[in-house]
Amino acid sequence: MSKQLQAVRGMNDGLPDQTKLWQWVENKIRTVVANYGYQEIRTPIVESTDLFKRSIGEVTDIVEKEMYTFDDRNGDSLTLRPEGTASCVRAGNQHGLLYNQQQRLWYMGPMFRHERPQKGRYRQFHQFGVETYGLDGPDIDLELILMSARLWREFGLSDCVRLEINSLGSAQARSAYREKLVRYLDNHRDSLDEDSLRRMQTNPLRVLDSKNPQVQAVVANAPQLLDHLDVESKQHFDTLCERLTQLGIEFEVNPRLVRGLDYYNRTVFEWVTESLGAQGTVLAGGRYDGLVEQLGGKATPAVGFAMGLERLVLLIETRQTVTVSDAAADVYVIAMSEDCAVYATQVAEQLRESFTALRVQMHCGGGNMKKQMKRADKIGAQLAIIVGEQERQEQQVSVKPLRGEGAQHTLEHALLNAHVAQFFDLDDSGFAAAQA
Ligand code: ATP
Ligand code: MG
Repeated sequence: MSKQLQAVRGMNDGLPDQTKLWQWVENKIRTVVANYGYQEIRTPIVESTDLFKRSIGEVTDIVEKEMYTFDDRNGDSLTLRPEGTASCVRAGNQHGLLYNQQQRLWYMGPMFRHERPQKGRYRQFHQFGVETYGLDGPDIDLELILMSARLWREFGLSDCVRLEINSLGSAQARSAYREKLVRYLDNHRDSLDEDSLRRMQTNPLRVLDSKNPQVQAVVANAPQLLDHLDVESKQHFDTLCERLTQLGIEFEVNPRLVRGLDYYNRTVFEWVTESLGAQGTVLAGGRYDGLVEQLGGKATPAVGFAMGLERLVLLIETRQTVTVSDAAADVYVIAMSEDCAVYATQVAEQLRESFTALRVQMHCGGGNMKKQMKRADKIGAQLAIIVGEQERQEQQVSVKPLRGEGAQHTLEHALLNAHVAQFFDLDDSGFAAAQA
């Protein structure tokens, strides 16, 4: 036997018993973004390497060590997208969607980062993200937070995530603060680790979110960015906090929250959980008013967030807040002989036509009645429809409930729709009437 091939390390298959929950989650997300009037944008998975270097920043974890970068056959340097924001801005600029306009956009799809695979951290992972353009007030920041809070409610996770927010101020305020911070850190060199000493030179704000307890102790007494905000940013942040309070959204101001990407300014936020170990951030976002111009467009305010879908699904599974049926079909259609196969197929097709949301599976591959019923049971069907020679001649069908009460009985084909609608409590399109 030849050797079996394996998926690339850190990149996962989605198997049928997992994709049911994923689809449920994705559908919920689509419903919620539509609920807020957001429109979908789809961008390529591969972009010029320059795009990410210029947006995410040269001295960030992503650009320094996590990107999947390669030369294509023309010698152009390309990169598998590590996140969605840069591509959105690139597309918005390229197609003239941003300048002097308002956009509320969302996307969902795979991202790639060469990290050490572990629970909640993979090399191909999926993000759902939202990006808005042309809106500079705290009202839109608030809207994004409200939308994420609604998502937690929809997923039954409100009580295991908490919101942390901070403001990074303007670029100018931040660079003044940066100098102060470096002076402070320099005075505490002895207590810093190698990573922090390096970051002190390249990206000192990142020292603030070090995970090393000894560094954290130094950082606890460092000057705070929040005390060095420019007046407008302070006003923006105060208004956001006030409105969150008025709307009953609990939050915690975390002055050490800086986010790993260079392009943020003013509001940054994260939704964090204690239920996933070290990979606790499920959703993260912030304002990036300078990025559109930095990537060659006209200055346009922007704010967005991204959610990690693997972490979301892990959280739902850990907390068991959602149950999705693992049945592959609702109805299983069985033909008792070759002679009635065409009639049975017509019965199945008619049901699919009448009830677009009903899952109707036709038995294929022949076999006796016992074998076919076993198959119906295995895929989790609720109702078997059995067609034999007698049924075909009389234009009838036999129905047999597969779970719980009820005996097999025979009815006119013309009455099948009414029977199925009643059995599953369906409306005219085949959706559960209770949900309609
Ligand atoms: P972390 O601090 O966990 O590395 P990050 O700051 O790099 O996260 P972002 O770039 O803000 O993450 O991405 C937003 C979200 O995408 C994260 O909060 C997380 O839920 C998810 N995410 C990021 N990297 C990965 C990964 N390698 N595997 C799975 N999910 C990820
Ligand atoms: Mg990371």
